[in-house]
Amino acid sequence: MSAGSDNMPLAVAALRGKPLLLRHLPYFLGAAIVVALAATVSFDGYILNILMQATTFAIAVFGLSVVLGLCGQINLAQAAFFGFGAYAVGIGTTDFQLSYWLCLAAGCGIALLAGAVLGASTLRLGGHYLAMVTISFQQIVTLVMINAIWLTHGPDGVGRIGRPALFQSSQAYLAFCVAMLALVGYFVWHLPDTRLGRAMRAVRDNELAAGVAGIDVFRTKVYAFALSAVLGGLAGGLFAGGFSYISPDQFSFAESIVFLTMSLLGGGASPIGSAIGTALLILIPEWLRFLKSVPGLYLAIYGLSVILIIRFMPDGIWGFVNAATQRWRAKAKLHAAGPPLQLSPAHVGGDIVLQVTGLAKYFGGLKAVDNVDIAVKRGGVHALIGPNGSGKTTTLNVLSGLYRATAGEVLLDGTDVTTMPPHLRAAAGLGRTFQNIRLFRSMTALENVVIGAERPGNTLIGNGGDAALHQRAMSALAFVGLGARANELISSFSYGHQRLIEIARALAANPTLLLLDEPAAGLNSSEKLELHELLKRIAAQGLTILIIDHDMTLVSEAAQHITVLNFGRRIADGESMAVLRHPDVVSAYLGSE
Ligand code: ADP
Ligand code: MG
Repeated sequence: MSAGSDNMPLAVAALRGKPLLLRHLPYFLGAAIVVALAATVSFDGYILNILMQATTFAIAVFGLSVVLGLCGQINLAQAAFFGFGAYAVGIGTTDFQLSYWLCLAAGCGIALLAGAVLGASTLRLGGHYLAMVTISFQQIVTLVMINAIWLTHGPDGVGRIGRPALFQSSQAYLAFCVAMLALVGYFVWHLPDTRLGRAMRAVRDNELAAGVAGIDVFRTKVYAFALSAVLGGLAGGLFAGGFSYISPDQFSFAESIVFLTMSLLGGGASPIGSAIGTALLILIPEWLRFLKSVPGLYLAIYGLSVILIIRFMPDGIWGFVNAATQRWRAKAKLHAAGPPLQLSPAHVGGDIVLQVTGLAKYFGGLKAVDNVDIAVKRGGVHALIGPNGSGKTTTLNVLSGLYRATAGEVLLDGTDVTTMPPHLRAAAGLGRTFQNIRLFRSMTALENVVIGAERPGNTLIGNGGDAALHQRAMSALAFVGLGARANELISSFSYGHQRLIEIARALAANPTLLLLDEPAAGLNSSEKLELHELLKRIAAQGLTILIIDHDMTLVSEAAQHITVLNFGRRIADGESMAVLRHPDVVSAYLGSE
């Protein structure tokens, strides 16, 4: 495991320093040309309508790409949010004679608010519940659109909707919508590489690991949901101005399904995928129009092609293209590593980093952890051992906040963390790995480790921005010997290397205390030796480690202090050699006969 940083091209793009807008000049030039084309090429009314629909729909689908593609949360009410924007512009510019801009802003605001409230009240529920709640919400909104006639004009809909003075002609308005699409597309394209976007991807890939890495899972989901809603609202507002007539059937559950299909078809998280899906689902029906003489045939072909694409390209069309080019992108230039990994754990409390008293965790009648005391000394390696099922993992899960303690108290560096959620414990300096590896599987090794480095409270990053984050992550990967493979996806690493990446992710966060749950499990003997050597290098930097392991040689050599559990109870505790000779420990491991 040599540090891989030496042979790494020092190719931090010179462009990195430039302001974002300048760096993406080609994109904006391209967008400007498309907008100019939209404004000047003369389309017939039919084409113009299709373009207007595709442009506004695509913005709503971008919203889905954020909530579903990036964050993995289902939203079956995008047409309702689309409707909020459309009705705000529709009713506002006609019945209330308000300015178009004010109405558009109000529509976005209403959608944002509704999305945030709906998200905040339901996102603690899992997938199926969320799907059901969003469907109900969609149905309620549809009912209101149809029945609150005094406000929405009911099934008759709203006509003669206004446009801004600047974009009175359909052509000018289309150009305006295309410009908005380009702006939103730029934003959605770059979202995955922002702190929020990374958090969303982490939540989608593995909620538990995300929380333990310091991400506020719930808040991230609510943000994704609200963002999706506001894009839906914006799209609806633009749509209303474009067609100058709206009615409730345009914002029904069926339309939500259309948006969803567009997103799935084009492919998840990327705005390019969303644009492809939107364009196809708007164009295919138009292309197949000539088949309308045979009733039903058109729908059959349409449905079949959607099924085929989703069956054979589960990540959508763009996901398919992306996967095909992944190999090539893995060879992309590596980020430069920072200085050799520095671990400078915080030092706030006294000699004891972790003080656990009377800890208990019951699952119904099963006392998985029962009145356990542990005191982990600063700067040492402390092992937690015990036969299978003795409560070691459960103890770690309670310590990191994945389970709520039935009783007891946990002090981390003097702070009472007993009732804190995982992400706050991470912020307080707790890092961990999992017995069954939990990595963010759609991301590269580097991206996984960046999320670790980004832990709130990681003083080694400060507000150094992206460059500092990447450097820190590269240093951590180099430290575990995988620096040269930073850009590869998780799936291309062996099991042993995945463990190392998980450790690198935890180290990059510069924790005060590192919890390792059976890091040697599933490794072959040479990998175990490497792991052992790695642990020594970590401990040599003064990082405090609480390690669970089965491997007695590893434990007896690495740890100065051992706590032994059996049937959830602590049966021995103390200096390593003494504990391993303790008669209760011997009989727990070898049987008492
Ligand atoms: P170890 O890591 O020491 O092998 P665990 O902490 O995983 O043991 O498990 C301790 C006991 O708690 C076992 O009997 C296990 O079946 C039980 N247990 C662990 N997690 C749960 C859970 N989520 N629900 C119910 N029982 C659990
Ligand atoms: Mg275990």
